[in-house]
Amino acid sequence: MSVTAKRWWGKARRWTGRLARSRATPRIAVLMYHRVAEPVNDPWKMCVGPRRFSEHMTVLAQHCEVIGLSSVVSRLEQPRTRPLVVVTFDDGYRDNLEVALPILEKFELPATLFLATDAVDAAEPWWWDVLADLVLETSLPPALDMLVGEERLVWRLQEGPDELRGRLWELLSRLDVSAITGVIRHLCQWAGHEPRHDPLRLPLSGEEIRQLTKGGLVSLGCHSASHLRMTVRDASTCKEELSRSINECRRLVGERPSAFAFPFGEYDQLSVELVKAAGFGMACTSDEGLVTASSDLFALPRLGVGNWTGSYFDAWLRHYWCA
Ligand SMILES: [Zn+2]
Repeated sequence: MSVTAKRWWGKARRWTGRLARSRATPRIAVLMYHRVAEPVNDPWKMCVGPRRFSEHMTVLAQHCEVIGLSSVVSRLEQPRTRPLVVVTFDDGYRDNLEVALPILEKFELPATLFLATDAVDAAEPWWWDVLADLVLETSLPPALDMLVGEERLVWRLQEGPDELRGRLWELLSRLDVSAITGVIRHLCQWAGHEPRHDPLRLPLSGEEIRQLTKGGLVSLGCHSASHLRMTVRDASTCKEELSRSINECRRLVGERPSAFAFPFGEYDQLSVELVKAAGFGMACTSDEGLVTASSDLFALPRLGVGNWTGSYFDAWLRHYWCA
């Protein structure tokens, strides 16, 4: 037995003991991924490399029971012998089909994709990806002074690119898509930036979504239409977006989605009420934690997964289960 294997076995026994003690309060880890890719830069921490994703799925296949999101409520009521895990993806990047799906199929692991439906067939990268490239891969001019929506943004080079990225995100995420597109275009001109062509980071097309879901392993959830930040937008805009995105999901896969994920993970009482009123049965946030029988079904916590090795992922997951 290797040192690694001994360490593993020791941890596994502790793990089993903890599980036995915690059966009275069943818990489920809902994992949150976005992209399975190795991009030039990843300042938003949205990417897990393909090899590492495969290592994560290996850990899940060996030591956990991966269930569909729709089974969460019923499984919280049942005794279990292995840790229960749900795999989710947000947004709808093409690499989910090209890279993640073959790995999920290899291990026969189900997953849910929360889709922001306006991007489908747009064949344009998401604005936050263009913003990241623009700020991090371009020699920026010494100063910026512009209106973003109704706010004036003044920035100097000595404040650094990350400061600019953060302030622009905060302002842009409050606007509608046409306003965001206008600001991004202006910024590209200001910085002399040409958006990089990267097919894997484009949103999935309608045909690709049908390919992704046709085997039955990946189900569709809803992530709004334009990926709007619900907490800063008015109720009628949110309602219209929810209805539009439900209809688009239904058009794409023939059934309405039962689960929602709040864009940017942000929610408040009003957005929860709107999601309930739209007919969803549950909603995921980006709040960190495990789902238990006492969790609010419309504010389910998730665990955001980083670009970690399989062994780090394994230890990280155990930390939550054994806490
Ligand atoms: Zn998202």
